[in-house]
Amino acid sequence: MLFGELMSFFLNKIKKISLATQIFFALFLGIIVGAICCTFAGGSAFVLNFLKPIGTIFINLLKMIVVPVVFLSIIDGIISMGDIKRLGKIGLKSILCFLVTTVLACITGLALSSGFSFAGLFPKLDISSNVKLESSSTSGFADVIAGLFTGPDMLTVIIVAIIVGIAILKCGEKGKPAAKILDSFYVVCDEITRGIIKFSPIAVFAMMSWIISAQGVKIIGTLAAALLCAYLGYIVFSVIVYSIFISVFTKLSPVTFFKNSFPAMIFAFTSASSVATIPVSKECCRKMGVDSSISSFVIPLGATVNMNGTAIYQCVATVLLATCCGVSLSIEQMLFIVTAIIAASVGTAGVPGSATITLAMVLTSVGIPVDAIMIIYGIDRIFDMGRTVINITGDILCAVCVSSMEGNSQKSLFWKRRKE
Ligand code: ASP
Repeated sequence: MLFGELMSFFLNKIKKISLATQIFFALFLGIIVGAICCTFAGGSAFVLNFLKPIGTIFINLLKMIVVPVVFLSIIDGIISMGDIKRLGKIGLKSILCFLVTTVLACITGLALSSGFSFAGLFPKLDISSNVKLESSSTSGFADVIAGLFTGPDMLTVIIVAIIVGIAILKCGEKGKPAAKILDSFYVVCDEITRGIIKFSPIAVFAMMSWIISAQGVKIIGTLAAALLCAYLGYIVFSVIVYSIFISVFTKLSPVTFFKNSFPAMIFAFTSASSVATIPVSKECCRKMGVDSSISSFVIPLGATVNMNGTAIYQCVATVLLATCCGVSLSIEQMLFIVTAIIAASVGTAGVPGSATITLAMVLTSVGIPVDAIMIIYGIDRIFDMGRTVINITGDILCAVCVSSMEGNSQKSLFWKRRKE
């Protein structure tokens, strides 16, 4: 009886705390528990056997719901745009925004990593040993592009959703019943997603404890310079480029933008999946007054094809591995890397670790042995957490900018800011 009362007292108290704060506390608690567990025998095993599965169940639940959410969200976005002309305009603006930010991300990544390499901070290693990459089969440029149109991946889902959305718009009156049915399914899926998201603090805690106890302090070893370079790139790029975009294209202040994107950033940091973060990213857009037809279209599209953080990581990894292998990169090769990375962004799925597969393509394009990936493969998760944060922030940024350009300025926040 007393236990029940205590539980409901605590649950009521927790319900009053915002989701962002809950996730933030969960993150810290996860770090503490993970750090404690790797100090005593059996601690890491406990985290692996009891905490990690909680995080895995949560991610699997999201994976289960994410395909219908992406599919229905894009159709919903297209239908609520009302006409194909508007869809074309928004699509074009989004793709332009994705492209410009990706090129800037590549420039940041290449400049920083070349600086690190020049300063002698990247190690020169002998990689002639027997390193082998498990998934090195996907290495050709053509293979990656061809692969996009075969399996049931997110890009296929997006292409089908765009086709269905356009067809419904073209059918006019006769297409309306189909639109209504799909809209109703979308509301149902959204409800399920909100239910799942409520458990995200528990999942963040579980995943963070696992990451800390599995990687431990040992990862801050020989590859510390590479990690530092990548994280410096993520921070410098997002603070400078995103702030400029927000100041130029919207009426928000960069601080307001980052503050409102924070819940999605923390979620992306722990889940390392842009696709799993879609519902949280959309919620952040809603809070910034983004038109829902725009966020429904731009966020899932961005989570699949817009990878600014991954672009920075791939530049750092390429320069690092080139240095390790004693390969020096010319300016032409760097330009080729940028082109390969833009193609790789489209081919990189918004799930943990997928950049490693497309990195193989980038390395092959400039003659670096693919096996070299094994040098950084062990700590990929640490790179991945940071790059996913930048990936989803870039998606939110594009949605906010496009919405603002379309005249759906962030009224609520804008007026709030004016009053302040
Ligand atoms: N984990 C990244 C994402 O979901 C993709 C990657 O860079 O591996 O955006």
